[in-house]
Amino acid sequence: MLRSERYRHFVDYFSKHQPEAETELHYTNPFELLVAVILSAQCTDKRINQITPALFARFPDAASLAASNTDEVFTYIRSVSYPNNKAKHLVRMAKMLVDVFGGVVPADIDELQKLPGVGRKTANVIASVVYDVAAIAVDTHVFRVADRLGLTTNATTPLAVEKQLVKYLPNNTLAIAHHWLILHGRYICVARSPKCEICPLTWFCRYYERTHTEKALIKAEAQKLKKAKDAKRKRSLDGISRELAKRSVDKNI
Ligand code: SF4
Repeated sequence: MLRSERYRHFVDYFSKHQPEAETELHYTNPFELLVAVILSAQCTDKRINQITPALFARFPDAASLAASNTDEVFTYIRSVSYPNNKAKHLVRMAKMLVDVFGGVVPADIDELQKLPGVGRKTANVIASVVYDVAAIAVDTHVFRVADRLGLTTNATTPLAVEKQLVKYLPNNTLAIAHHWLILHGRYICVARSPKCEICPLTWFCRYYERTHTEKALIKAEAQKLKKAKDAKRKRSLDGISRELAKRSVDKNI
């Protein structure tokens, strides 16, 4: 199947079945989303949603967070991963938001990346979710699912994945495609063992094609037989070597 066909099926399927896909992080304004996304690195959305209500109640905007300090912020985020670093990033990010951007979260991806704790992925999330910029953030789910489906080829870095997705996806689907890929990766196309048996995308998935079709199964069976044959041959050769060694010892005695 051509890559362009896979893209077409991907967009058609999700446009029809998940037209409203969105982030599972809870937030009510751009500042809260920015804080939540920074916190969510290497952590689950569920965990972040547990701690953000108290955090946002204490720090409702950039000014209040900027006026605080790392130790205080730490007490609100101690149960997330890397709380020390994240507390530092949040306070420094808020200070910069106040000092450089007048307390407003910028829409520009390059400007967003100037903020402490904000890399390309976070910048793309904020720009696309908040400001509807045609951008796609690549996290571990997006990276893996895009590859398995065959939307990307030989893309070894998040930036390479992003470039291929931007090239082939229609501009108006970039932001939502990020959520489609994340949700599919979180619940069905999981990292260790994808749940292909319940996946509705098997008919255009490259990974499925390579691992489950008749041709793929025949190939796997042939490889298994060859492996068994090689192992048997090796055992037989080992046996002969042992026998020869034994005879040589007997002879010397
Ligand atoms: S068929 Fe399997 S590998 Fe392909 S997208 Fe579905 S779960 Fe993932």
